[in-house]
Amino acid sequence: MTTTQPFADWPSHLRALGKRVTRQRVAVLQAVDAHPHATAERIHTAARELVPDITLQSVYIVLADATAWGLVRKLDDVPARYETRVGDNHHHLICVQCGVILDVDCVVGTPPCLHPPTGHGMEILSADITFRGVCADCRAPESPRPDPESQPTGGTHG
Ligand SMILES: [Zn+2]
Ligand SMILES: [Zn+2]
Ligand SMILES: [Zn+2]
Repeated sequence: MTTTQPFADWPSHLRALGKRVTRQRVAVLQAVDAHPHATAERIHTAARELVPDITLQSVYIVLADATAWGLVRKLDDVPARYETRVGDNHHHLICVQCGVILDVDCVVGTPPCLHPPTGHGMEILSADITFRGVCADCRAPESPRPDPESQPTGGTHG
């Protein structure tokens, strides 16, 4: 595992691409960095801690730009999710019960690791692979889950 800084130097990344460095862009990129696989709304909440007046609309615009520039990877889940781990062709495990998303390395390593059965005349650049299942926590038998609605009535008082 490589050691990564908690926050990338987003102003440098933006400048390297010839893009303008704005507070909104940096705030959104930091928010995606801090909350991998978050939805735009969650990213908005996090970005507002840095730029209190940023709107959800601005967040969507920055996310679309950053995705187009290759700084952010968009997961076409519903709702869409975003992450800053780009370029390594990793895949995702999603629990269908609690929605947790885990990164898994690509077995093949180089994109695309899957090819459609017929070429269709297209040069394939990537293959998004999502494994759906039920995570270990959700499969745990009788996980202690305090539920106020299902507590036994008339509890004893010691
Ligand atoms: Zn789960
Ligand atoms: Zn991921
Ligand atoms: Zn793969």
